[in-house]
Amino acid sequence: MALVTSQEMFKKAYEGKYAVGAFNVNNMEIIQGIVEAAKQENAPLILQVSAGARKYANPIYLRKLVEAAIEDTGLDICLHLDHGEDFEICKQCVDDGFTSVMIDGSKYPFEENIALTKRVVEYAHSKGVVVEAELGKLAGVEDAVKVKTKDATYTDPDEAVEFVERTGVDSLAIAIGTSHGAYKFKGDPTLDFERLETITNLLPDFPLVLHGSSSVPKEFVELCNKYGGQIPGAAGVPEEMLRRAA
Ligand SMILES: [Zn+2]
Repeated sequence: MALVTSQEMFKKAYEGKYAVGAFNVNNMEIIQGIVEAAKQENAPLILQVSAGARKYANPIYLRKLVEAAIEDTGLDICLHLDHGEDFEICKQCVDDGFTSVMIDGSKYPFEENIALTKRVVEYAHSKGVVVEAELGKLAGVEDAVKVKTKDATYTDPDEAVEFVERTGVDSLAIAIGTSHGAYKFKGDPTLDFERLETITNLLPDFPLVLHGSSSVPKEFVELCNKYGGQIPGAAGVPEEMLRRAA
């Protein structure tokens, strides 16, 4: 039991043909709920810390809570920085003991995204930490990451190959129609599976990441609204689509 990188998890996932869940954590109760479920399912686990979580709880508290979860459950867990916005925050998390960081340069032009990602990769790899980057823009809102639907762009498959080759990154978040937040689809949910397949074929066995892929079960939305919640019409990615993507 230990804090581990996602490297081994991704390898096993490719062999076993399944996806690995990465869940955002903000406090002890959320961590307890997720690790309990992972233990029941005997599932590999990535716990990740967003900008909002960092603001709410100093990342060191979150790391200590995750370490407590590892000690308590015996699970291997990857502790990941979600949407790191610059080199400094990635470096800080690497230095603080995170085993994985994301550098999100998706808002920058292609060449700038490559340069920034490369810099983070060089530093993180020198400390044994893996790096996720992002190419293409997801719609939706997640903490500091806000993209209007009209500004969202799907990932170009050829650019994805060039990006991975030139940066040496360990995994890549791509945009194929998933989105951040609890309101993912206005009409019928659609994902660009063809694009996903093209990128997968061009980058065989390379870990691809789908952000904004939570399902939002209807019965829980109803339950929440019944007791005073106000999330009418919240919709996530249907589970059968997630299975197909995996
Ligand atoms: Zn995200």
